[in-house]
Amino acid sequence: MNNNDQQLRLLNPGPVTLTQRVRQALTRPDVCHREREFTRLMDDVRDGLRRVYPQAQNDYEAVLFTGSGTSAMEAMVGSLVPRQGKALVLANGVYGERMANMLRTQGKTPEVIQHHWTSGLNLEEVNQRLEQAGPISHVIAVHHETTTGRLNDLPGLGAICRQQNIPLLLDTVSSFGGEAIDFEGWNVEACAATANKCLHGAPGISFVLARREVLTSQSSASPSTYLDLFANYKSQIQSVPQFTPAVHVMYALQEALAELKESGGWQHRQQLYQSRSAQVREALARSGVQLLLDGPDCYASSLTSFRLPDEVSFSRLHAHLKQAGFVIYPGQQSLNDTIFRIAVMGDLSNQDIAELVGALDEFFCHAEANYCET
Ligand SMILES: *Cc1c(COP(=O)(O)O)cnc(C)c1O
Repeated sequence: MNNNDQQLRLLNPGPVTLTQRVRQALTRPDVCHREREFTRLMDDVRDGLRRVYPQAQNDYEAVLFTGSGTSAMEAMVGSLVPRQGKALVLANGVYGERMANMLRTQGKTPEVIQHHWTSGLNLEEVNQRLEQAGPISHVIAVHHETTTGRLNDLPGLGAICRQQNIPLLLDTVSSFGGEAIDFEGWNVEACAATANKCLHGAPGISFVLARREVLTSQSSASPSTYLDLFANYKSQIQSVPQFTPAVHVMYALQEALAELKESGGWQHRQQLYQSRSAQVREALARSGVQLLLDGPDCYASSLTSFRLPDEVSFSRLHAHLKQAGFVIYPGQQSLNDTIFRIAVMGDLSNQDIAELVGALDEFFCHAEANYCET
């Protein structure tokens, strides 16, 4: 690599900085997706995805899509929410709202409990709605709402779904592989996720993990050919992908899954993220920079959102950190000018985190001396 190509350390919530091992898998020999070499690879990846959470390995199946995380979300809600069914969508950020919009685009009529983006899920309201007349086919929620970094209260919501026996569809795009998911306890019918966030694969492949019983006993409600969960499942269990897959990205995902397993699985990754995030949060707290949400306990392990101090523009902070070799992330939509986000997924060393802390201290304590308390 020459200087211009130097690897920036990505602190956006995916795509992440790849390990050398995963990046090298992208350069493996070209392969035809209808040959044995590929179908072995696909079977292995589908198997590996089921085993990330041992609780899911017997009763769930992974269905792969070539596309970003959004394609898996769309396949999930499009195929599983019945055309005449009423889903209850909980939205406290961009991604919950996105799933409600998908359903509307598909000609379905979801009910939406809209929250402020800085609020946690209102479980009382969920309970009230479920007790009312009018059946709800599915509850739909986001596990880690990346808009703010909030790890939504799935133990609370899942207990309601389990108790009322209402299937839960989850966007776990930014939590799969890095947070606990209680498939049974939360009554999860399916979750959608991607290769290139907590799993540390390359962008281009996403997947739905769905109950096998549902995939084999129900029919598809999908208005889409490409994103039909059931049709893709039927061909993938026969080891024939329905459409041309991103074959090199599949090699990379296979390596990423092997790395995850060898390094101690999702629990180890969660701890690693927590330790990295704690260092970032401490550094910024020293400089008087405030969290967007009420406290560190609100957050997923992999991401934190901070309020931009008055007079500090995102672009200046971003430029300072990019100079130091890091890419950080702005807020979305209404939070675009008021917050910044730091994710700690991907291949980052202790040295990287120390350098990041140094660069943050330098910006807020020296370049922006007003903001430093010490
Ligand atoms: C990243 C993300 C997505 C999907 O984004 P893509 O750009 O389509 O990969 C969906 N939901 C959440 C919670 C996310 O963080």
